[in-house]
Amino acid sequence: MKSKIFYSIIISVLFTSCRSIQKTELSSGFQQDKLLVSVSWYQHAGEMEALYYQGFNIARLRLDESVTANTNNKPLAVVVDIDETMLNNSPFETTLITNEDKLSGWYNWTSKAKAKALPGALEFAKYAQEKHVEIFYITNRDDNERASTLKNLETEGFPFATDDHLFTKSDLSYSTGNTSSKEGRRTKVSEKHEIILLIGDNLNDFSEIFEDRKINDGKEAVDKNREMFGKKFIILPNPMYGAWEKPLYEYRDSLTDNEKTRLLKSKLKTE
Ligand SMILES: [Mg+2]
Repeated sequence: MKSKIFYSIIISVLFTSCRSIQKTELSSGFQQDKLLVSVSWYQHAGEMEALYYQGFNIARLRLDESVTANTNNKPLAVVVDIDETMLNNSPFETTLITNEDKLSGWYNWTSKAKAKALPGALEFAKYAQEKHVEIFYITNRDDNERASTLKNLETEGFPFATDDHLFTKSDLSYSTGNTSSKEGRRTKVSEKHEIILLIGDNLNDFSEIFEDRKINDGKEAVDKNREMFGKKFIILPNPMYGAWEKPLYEYRDSLTDNEKTRLLKSKLKTE
């Protein structure tokens, strides 16, 4: 009898400790650790707000210049990205840390249409509308997110939240053979509009010249086009995710947490 009780205690202790190990692993995996700091910065740093305001303040100045200098027959347009440019999806990133909403994921988040406008984004879009400059939203959200995306933009008060001002991932994105490329959609907008500004959190939101990051993380194209930033290209901060990660992981999709950690550490600079 005594030995039965002893073994059941042992089994119970082992079971409890296994569960707690699993729980610990879930809350401190590579993805969670990586996002914990970047999402905290994005949601709490005054610097984040200031950078968004700075970006949209510069955008407003450039828009004014273009409107004043305009001798074009085509109507003027600003092309903006949506995620982490106009709408804040960091609450979804939080669920990746806590694993609360792991199964339902991204589509569940966008279907709720409850992302909030980022600092300065709404004011800028309304200002553009006042100046008769159209906003085109070019996003890599999928077609099945189109209705909820428009609803979200509309709920937040964004102008031009209409079908003809929204290009999702499958709309004309094939120009370079890269399904994420936005070049085809920008070309489409250019047919009838003069694009005076592009705003995004990813270099790929501006031009296909930034898409290849295989050499020096793609910085060569940034250096060559340095005068365009703050002029025609307005870049906003996003430390949570982005195309900037791909060269760090050497374009490999199925890496283990240990491999990712090893790769990141191997690329750290000491001088
Ligand atoms: Mg984005």
